[in-house]
Amino acid sequence: MKVKDITIIGGGPAGLYAAFYAGMRDLSVRIIETKKTLGGKVHFYPEKMIWDVGGIPAALGAELIDQMVEQGMTFNPEVILGQKVTTFTQVEQGGFKVITADGHQYFSKRIIIATGGGLFNPKRLPLTYNARFEETNLHHSVYRRSHFRNKKVVIVGGGNTAVDWANELLGIAKEIHLIHRNESFKAYEAATRQLAASRAKIYTHTLVKELIPNITGDRVRAIKMRKSKSNQDEHLELDELIVNIGFDNELNFHHDPKLRFNLKEDYYIEGTAKAETAVEGVYAIGDILDFDGKVRLIAGAYSDAANAVNQIKRSLDPKAAEKAQVSSHNHRFNQKNEEKRSRLFEE
Ligand SMILES: Cc1cc2nc3c(=O)[nH]c(=O)nc-3n(C[C@H](O)[C@H](O)[C@H](O)COP(=O)(O)OP(=O)(O)OC[C@H]3O[C@@H](n4cnc5c(N)ncnc54)[C@H](O)[C@@H]3O)c2cc1C
Repeated sequence: MKVKDITIIGGGPAGLYAAFYAGMRDLSVRIIETKKTLGGKVHFYPEKMIWDVGGIPAALGAELIDQMVEQGMTFNPEVILGQKVTTFTQVEQGGFKVITADGHQYFSKRIIIATGGGLFNPKRLPLTYNARFEETNLHHSVYRRSHFRNKKVVIVGGGNTAVDWANELLGIAKEIHLIHRNESFKAYEAATRQLAASRAKIYTHTLVKELIPNITGDRVRAIKMRKSKSNQDEHLELDELIVNIGFDNELNFHHDPKLRFNLKEDYYIEGTAKAETAVEGVYAIGDILDFDGKVRLIAGAYSDAANAVNQIKRSLDPKAAEKAQVSSHNHRFNQKNEEKRSRLFEE
């Protein structure tokens, strides 16, 4: 099997942009992605409108996935889908061996970890309830906005995801009720302000105590909630319940114990702003990486990816330039520029 310059573990925004940027720097790449599709956790919000990716004023999650995948495939990286990396280790000859759950082995000179949210498990309400609810009207994400049209929607949570969905569904749902156990929201200020000024009904210092089923027992009909300041209980009838109270992250691969990463909260890989980890030759990018000043957004993932690839290029070829040439001057685009121009000209 061919030894690649880089194995990228994870095919989300960070991994895809790293594959593209590595191509700009004449480096060979293999992406290994545990899911059957590329795009990472953006698949979690295909119908959400994304406004904060540079150069794209607004796009649905699904549209952004298409664009990211197209760009990520520009230099034809090897893509291995449906294989979960379980471990990797250094090999004597230098470089690394990556092993997947089904026993495949892949070799590369360097590794980029782009595993994002790891095993992406939404946290459940700490209540006992019929598992059937999650097949009917208890959701942990919004895959189809139209499902919530003209419905009374109750959202539980106080972070970005809960506030984002509340804002997104304002124009669609009949009513939005947002329930949060604390006083202040841990979401971006503008989104919180937008929500506060909207028709959504907000309940702070409020805990969900019980999910009350309908007569057939397979749907949530109402919730019992407790005002923590007054200790009073209230019932709230609903059509749909969305629970966004966080995610259970876990580092979902094991590495050779000789490779000592610094982990934060047992999960994030502490590194530098240049995406270096404590292990030489292994870089981390995107949501999994932590450093002072880290931007845990798609825009931040792109910057990490470019930094990691530039570090790798210099480590493999110390005479190489520190950064890639800007794309308009990069020789790797000469033919592609011609093709694109002639297509535009024909149109
Ligand atoms: C509801 C929601 C809304 C958001 N809205 C925005 C927004 O508007 N703007 C914005 O900039 N950001 C937004 N974000 C954050 C954004 O999605 C992340 O910052 C971004 O996806 C991080 O990209 P990533 O590649 O680091 O990780 P991910 O997108 O999590 O991708 C990681 C990939 O690695 C794969 N993987 C994991 N472990 C393994 C393994 N062991 N082997 C192989 N593959 C593996 C996963 O399957 C996944 O495909 C939002 C997030 C959520 C949850």
